[in-house]
Order: sequence, then structure tokens, then C-alpha cells
Amino acid sequence: MTELTAVQQHFFNNLPHVSLAFYEPMSRHTSFRIGGNAEVMAFPKSAQELSEVLRATAALGCPVAILGAGTNVLAPDAGISGMVVCLKDALDGMELLSDNRIRVMAGVTMTRAAVFAANHGLSGMEFAHGIPGTVGGGVYMNAGAYGGEICQICESVDVMDLAGNLRTLSGSEMDFSYRHSRLEDEGGIVVSAVFALQSGDMEQIKAKMRELQAKRSASQPLDKPSAGSAFKRPTQGYAAALIDQAGLKGYRVGDAAVSEKHAGFAVNLGNATAEDVKNLLRQVSDIVYENSGIRLEPEVRIW
Ligand SMILES: Cc1cc2nc3c(=O)[nH]c(=O)nc-3n(C[C@H](O)[C@H](O)[C@H](O)COP(=O)(O)OP(=O)(O)OC[C@H]3O[C@@H](n4cnc5c(N)ncnc54)[C@H](O)[C@@H]3O)c2cc1C
Repeated sequence: MTELTAVQQHFFNNLPHVSLAFYEPMSRHTSFRIGGNAEVMAFPKSAQELSEVLRATAALGCPVAILGAGTNVLAPDAGISGMVVCLKDALDGMELLSDNRIRVMAGVTMTRAAVFAANHGLSGMEFAHGIPGTVGGGVYMNAGAYGGEICQICESVDVMDLAGNLRTLSGSEMDFSYRHSRLEDEGGIVVSAVFALQSGDMEQIKAKMRELQAKRSASQPLDKPSAGSAFKRPTQGYAAALIDQAGLKGYRVGDAAVSEKHAGFAVNLGNATAEDVKNLLRQVSDIVYENSGIRLEPEVRIW
């Protein structure tokens, strides 16, 4: 059996109640199916466990990274030293509050939250059905689709700092903008969010969700590993259209390629490495810039 590093031994000794994995392949936890081993991965099941993990990490001066469903992360081939805290399904739970509001824990997927809202006849989350990430990841980067965005429904967010302290921020205090919140600038972990919705007809809400899912299936390469849109929408035009106009559909670096179905997606054709994807994004951005004068910036978070 592989020996434990000093860091792994520290967490093994100090976090007896928390579910931990050592040398855990990031490729198992990212939708790109890319990434080497995380030295330690923790799966805290409550805000209390999350706070214990963060305090143990701080005591050791160990780097910590937060992972939701890994649907917007490119993890390095060489793996990750230190702690990765994985919240998907770990920090779980949803609750119906008064006045058409719901509280959702960060590890719940956006799709499950949207279905929960629909089952209670609540409208406003239809756009989120089909975004494959967690509520935590969605709040962190103000996820959106088909005209809807997290900022439109987010009433408040419980945020934990890296010392394990919890506070509540209102939606306006989150400073949401396009695919961005203040947590990206100053850190902080989404523990749960309250969404304010409107009462609606359950069948109409579900029909809308099915319609949006059908649009996704028709236009996106959902059969191949990817992280969704590889580039942010530029101030002029659309990334996919600019990439298509530059003749880059199918453009390939190693096993990373621009999707033939949707030029905005970078896909893993089988054995792509993080280096392949990074080189692909860099080259596509350069070629589009030469072709259009518009610089594309990655939307996927490159770790
Ligand atoms: C097929 C496909 C389609 C997609 N379609 C869309 C779309 O329509 N619209 C859209 O906006 N996105 C889309 N995405 C991208 C992705 O699903 C979203 O960005 C999603 O919000 C990421 O959530 P996640 O839980 O997977 O986050 P991760 O990928 O795990 O993490 C992304 C970033 O968020 C941080 N983070 C995650 N959880 C937390 C937390 N609890 N607290 C603080 N920080 C956290 C991470 O540290 C990381 O920096 C798509 C992706 C795929 C693969």
C-alpha cells in the first residue's frame, strides 16, 4: 500500500468523522474527465464538518481548493498538493420556506434544485435545469442560461470563510455580474443559498424545463466530456460564432478539440490532458483574435 504523506496523516488523525480520500483522481470529479490525483479530498456532510476541515487545513497552512460538481474546472495533470474539498452530494439538502422561497445546500445540483422548485409549483429556476453544476458552483460564478441567471433569484447566501466562520450575504451584497460574484475576488465558500421564486403552474414549469433540455441536447455535445462553454461571452459577438467564423470547428490539440456540434465547447475526445486543453484554448483565442480583433477569455476555471 502507498504510504501516507505527512499532510494525509494530519487529516487522517484530525478529522476522524469526515469522509476522506487520499490520492483521489480529479478526473473522477471533473466533467472534462481530466486531472491527476488530489493529495487529500474531503467530503464534508454539514457546515460543521466543513468548518472542521477548514480549521484543520488552516492549522497546517495547507492549500485548499473547493470543488462542486467539477463541471467548470480544468484540473492539472500533475495533480493537486493539499486539500480539495468536494461538496457535490456531500453538503446536501433542500427546504421549502415561506413566501415561495427555498433554501438549497451548496452540494445539490442545479437540476435537482430546479426539479424541487417545480414539484412545489415554484417558477423562476427553469433556466437552471440542465446546468450540470452544483448550487454552490452556480452561485459562486452566477451561472445562467436562456435568459435566466442565479442573480435574478438569489435572496441570500450563507458563506463560510477559510477560517471556518459563517456569515449571511444578501443577493445584492454578492456583487453579481456576468459569470462572476464577489467570492471570486475575496474567497469564501457557499454553504447554502435562499432562492426567491414565484408560484406557477407545475405542468407549465416542467414543460419549460423539458423545452430547455431539448434545446441543450439539440445544440450541445452532451455525449462528450467538456466543461460547457470554454470561453466567456465577449463584449462584442458570441464566442461560438467567432470560433466558427475562424474555421475552427474540429480544430484539435492532442485529444482536446473544438466541438463539431457547438464551436463554443472544447471537448475531450478520449485521452486529452489539461495541457492539451490549455494549448487548445490559447491557440483558439489567438486565431480568433487574428481573425476578428476580439480576444476570447476562458470561462472554464483553470486550476
Ligand atoms: C455540458 C455542460 C453545460 C453547461 N452549461 C452551462 C450553462 O448553460 N450555463 C452556465 O452558467 N454554466 C454551464 N456549464 C458550466 C458549469 O456547469 C457551471 O459553471 C456551474 O455553475 C459550475 O458548478 P460546479 O458545481 O460544477 O462548479 P465547479 O466546476 O466544481 O467549480 C467551479 C468554480 O466554482 C468554485 N466553487 C464550486 N463550488 C463552490 C462553493 N460551494 N463555494 C465557493 N466556490 C465554489 C470552484 O472553486 C471553482 O472555482 C456547463 C457545463 C457543462 C459540462
